[in-house]
Amino acid sequence: MDLQLKGKVAVVTGASKGIGRGIARTFAREGADVLLTARTRDAVEAAAAEIGAEYGVTARAVASDVSTAAGCDAVIEAAATMGGADIFVSNAGTGSNETVADAPDEKWQSYWDLHVMAAVRLSRGLADQMEAKGGGAMLMNASICAVQPLWYEPIYNTTKAALLMFGKCLSTEMIKRNIRVNTVNPGLIRTPDWENTARELRGDDWEASLQEVADEHADIKRFASVEELADFCVFLCSPRASYSVGSAYHVDGGMLKTI
Ligand code: NDP
Repeated sequence: MDLQLKGKVAVVTGASKGIGRGIARTFAREGADVLLTARTRDAVEAAAAEIGAEYGVTARAVASDVSTAAGCDAVIEAAATMGGADIFVSNAGTGSNETVADAPDEKWQSYWDLHVMAAVRLSRGLADQMEAKGGGAMLMNASICAVQPLWYEPIYNTTKAALLMFGKCLSTEMIKRNIRVNTVNPGLIRTPDWENTARELRGDDWEASLQEVADEHADIKRFASVEELADFCVFLCSPRASYSVGSAYHVDGGMLKTI
């Protein structure tokens, strides 16, 4: 299937590694130009250079903190220099570990800024570029934890649930401008971070510890590869998914325990 993405400009936040990098790479594989963002300059520039060389597309990098207004402005400006965004994937995010009783206000605020305000600010700025090009697509990367919480990360669960609701509200507004908005809720995706954490916790036995996590949580009894999730995300952002508007899609190997 031709995803009709050749020559489109796709902006992916949190793209120096893990899921974001995989999504940016998959857009490039389909012929789209890509703008990768992350805070660590060396890493995001290296990722962009590698993806650009692999697929012969324009791949640029922005080093900025999207949990700040200035960091979002830098991304919006960089996208404008590429002719304007057609696609935006709000992916930058991270897990947490706390109790409600102990977590300080500042921690709640920082996760709100990263998981919600980055999506608010970037979608607002990039929508103008998309509209000027006739329309576009946006994808919020929330989490299964937006609907089925893990006990150790209340701040993550709460802010991802807020992102899911934001995606729905944004969708209703944006479709009038021919911009489709959807949300993806991934389950267990095997990223280098999961592997490093498992190595730290279990040493040589780290593969077994990942298998235990998969056995406990996912009916399919394994993690997804980054590529499996990225293929789904890129399809949703493509013109081939033209009737998908304002929906949330679980890519979780059966982890969600409700219908
Ligand atoms: P990684 O930790 O592997 O990558 C996170 C990326 O986001 C990095 O590029 C990081 O670069 C960037 N980033 C983090 N904070 C900021 C910031 N303030 N501004 C700009 N960039 C930032 O994460 P994953 O790939 O595992 O996760 C990606 C998304 O997917 C997250 O939103 C996560 O919640 C979600 N998710 C992941 C799942 C999984 O199993 N892996 C499951 C469900 C959802 P740098 O540190 O240099 O800024």
